[in-house]
Amino acid sequence: MQETKHFIGGSWIAAGARQTFAAVSPATGDVLAQIAQGDVADADAAVRAASAARGVLAKMTAWERARMCLRIADAIEARKPALARTLTLDQGKPYHAEALGEVEHAAASFRNCAEQIKWLETAVMPVEAPSKRVFSIRQPRGVYAIVTPWNFPYMIAAEYLAPGLAAGNAIVWVPAPTTSLCAVELTRAIQEADLPPGALNLVTGPGPVVGDAIVAHPGTAGVGFTGSPATGEQIARRAAGKPCLLELGGNGPTIILDDADLDTAAAATALGCFFNAGQVCCATERILVHPAVHDAVVEKLAERARAVKLGDPLAEGTTMGPLNNEPTAEKSDRHVRDAVERGATIVVGGKRASGFATSLYYQPTVIDGMTTEMAGHREETFGPVAKVMTVASDDEALRIADDSDLGLVSAVFTRDLKRAFRFSEALRTGIVVVNDFTDYWELHIPFGGASGKRSGIGRIGGRHALMEMTDLKTIVLDVG
Ligand code: NAD
Repeated sequence: MQETKHFIGGSWIAAGARQTFAAVSPATGDVLAQIAQGDVADADAAVRAASAARGVLAKMTAWERARMCLRIADAIEARKPALARTLTLDQGKPYHAEALGEVEHAAASFRNCAEQIKWLETAVMPVEAPSKRVFSIRQPRGVYAIVTPWNFPYMIAAEYLAPGLAAGNAIVWVPAPTTSLCAVELTRAIQEADLPPGALNLVTGPGPVVGDAIVAHPGTAGVGFTGSPATGEQIARRAAGKPCLLELGGNGPTIILDDADLDTAAAATALGCFFNAGQVCCATERILVHPAVHDAVVEKLAERARAVKLGDPLAEGTTMGPLNNEPTAEKSDRHVRDAVERGATIVVGGKRASGFATSLYYQPTVIDGMTTEMAGHREETFGPVAKVMTVASDDEALRIADDSDLGLVSAVFTRDLKRAFRFSEALRTGIVVVNDFTDYWELHIPFGGASGKRSGIGRIGGRHALMEMTDLKTIVLDVG
């Protein structure tokens, strides 16, 4: 049985307390490895190793760091099948339909930042004083504390590690416990790219222990976190005074208007509900449908749900694997039960699937007759549950879409340009997608939550993350 270690200062080091926890596959129930269970002393050692490396990284030119990022992308791509297999076994997502793509996406993140860092220009400012010349430069912030979730263990990590390293920061990374084996494998790939020792450090273990320790540590200068709003808020308090890039939850409303192309809307909406078994921050969570098209939309969504191939995530043809962990599966159970008790109807699915190696396989589900007091409307479900509610008018659709403390991504389906603009401008989410699914995103597009909601602070995505993860320094020269 493989026993993993922390990666600190360029070496693999056993957890100080010599404790481990099991990485159990949600797909098979097998123990895949014993993972090093870090403590505060391990986190502290990692921050110290990163602090020692920060000067080396900061001195590298943007071109040198860009080449380092390209080497990382090559190393990830060279291990694509093995990384994808670990992802499928450790996280649960289907190998062919999704895991290979996530590995490609992680590599592309490094390529993207390698390009963007070269062109991160700053300004020379005209000033009033005749003897002064004023300009700005972007500098790395120092040591970044990065804490990531389990739904995209490579992709979300790369969304921080790529801009962080490209910008010249040293990093201490704490991944989610249930996908720590993925983090170890990704770090092994990155290690091959000849980074300065201490540039990237990995500490595995419980978030409230090692995650908290790096976030609150006086040696870290900035924090990048993706996860739930409650943890994000706790982290923001613990990191008080440090720049925080927080990507938190969503409750993605998708509005299907009476003039929508229903085949396109149903196909995109179903993908938004069932991709990664719904465990996506920008998943389609609430489907708000005009009464004139309600029956047709429900029928088409049900057809799509029945077409999902739930099964062995390593098998070709499987489009949905198990959920990653029991609390997530229990949340889907609770939301379905609550909806039914309050009068909603299950059209397809509605429970865990039987006959699999674990109880984490969940039937692709469509529920009709949702109302605003139901838990599945009020909270993010994070499971493969399409929840349909009828809305009487455009105004009501806007009001109910906004009836959420979250505001990450929304979508609207209409053929009318004026309605498209009205919704795009009025919806309080960081991204509005017209005529496609809520998950639509490319690496360089700014991604994050709307202000006044609990979906996060700041923007990831290429250049935007580079700006978040650097300090803007103003230099004043007196030449008089
Ligand atoms: P979570 O908040 O429970 O955990 C996220 C990470 O934080 C894990 O690594 C965990 O170990 C760590 N953690 C937990 N408590 C901590 C603490 N006190 N201090 C420091 N670290 C701590 O979230 P999750 O259940 O793993 O992920 C699902 C959530 O993430 C959903 O709400 C989802 O919407 C959100 N998410 C957001 C995005 C985005 O880009 N906005 C992307 C993916 C997931």
